Amino acid sequence: MVSFKDQCIMVTGSSRGIGAAIAQYLSTLGARVAITYSSSKDSAERVFQELEGSGHLLLQMNVTQSKSVKEAFDKFMNHFGSLSALVNNAGVTKDGLLLRMKDEDFHSVLATNLFGCFYCSREAAKYMIKERKGSIINISSVVAQIGNPGQANYVASKAGIEGLTRSMANELAGRNIRVNAVAPGFIQTDMTEKLNEKQVHAITDRVPLKKLGTPQDVAETVAFLLNAKYITGQVISVNGGLAFR
Ligand code: NAP
Repeated sequence: MVSFKDQCIMVTGSSRGIGAAIAQYLSTLGARVAITYSSSKDSAERVFQELEGSGHLLLQMNVTQSKSVKEAFDKFMNHFGSLSALVNNAGVTKDGLLLRMKDEDFHSVLATNLFGCFYCSREAAKYMIKERKGSIINISSVVAQIGNPGQANYVASKAGIEGLTRSMANELAGRNIRVNAVAPGFIQTDMTEKLNEKQVHAITDRVPLKKLGTPQDVAETVAFLLNAKYITGQVISVNGGLAFR
């Protein structure tokens, strides 16, 4: 099994769900991680307590605010002294049909998912360029590729993340910094907990592997990409065959 010993990794939105699973898994592989949350302090503290090993960091950071992002990265660097990787996982949904979607619902989803990814990546790149190495993983979604009714804001944000991934990969490759994205399909988290049995069945029926994915499936793909030294600018799907790239 690959080791992340001596690696210091920032995982945004790791107070629960996929982000928590990524941070937890990387800690079992030896990494020291920063757990970040914007408002779910209790939940973040629980995740933090359950990490393997020691020397981890718990940070409050609102990814929609570049000032908050900068402060969090400053604290990260003060604590660890080095940034090996960033996982841009923080994300929200505010679903609604196009004609009923309010301006603020479109803005706020873009602000968290896309602007947050940009602010954190820009801050991370500043440190990684100095170290002439690093890896950034952005969490996209299968819907960036196939669209989804009622999610114009979310789909636009995730499609934006995939473009941002390719652009940053091109720009930063010369500094030995790789940038990739992981696009999960339907994963068992709080987001999917809200669905009833009939809705879950309707989803799994569409998935060739006939089941929902798990946060661990995503975490393992993130770990793979962090370690894949000749892969950059790619979007890797973790969707049970729901869509092919
Ligand atoms: P989740 O359980 O709702 O967790 C979202 C995380 O993002 C929380 O830690 C939350 O912390 C954080 N967050 C939200 N707004 C933030 C902000 N402004 N600043 C900083 N952190 C913020 O979501 P999830 O289901 O694990 O999804 C994680 C990622 O995977 C998202 O990018 C999502 O779009 C993507 N994804 C999920 C699925 C799925 O099926 N679940 C499928 C495809 C893609 P606070 O509560 O403290 O704000």
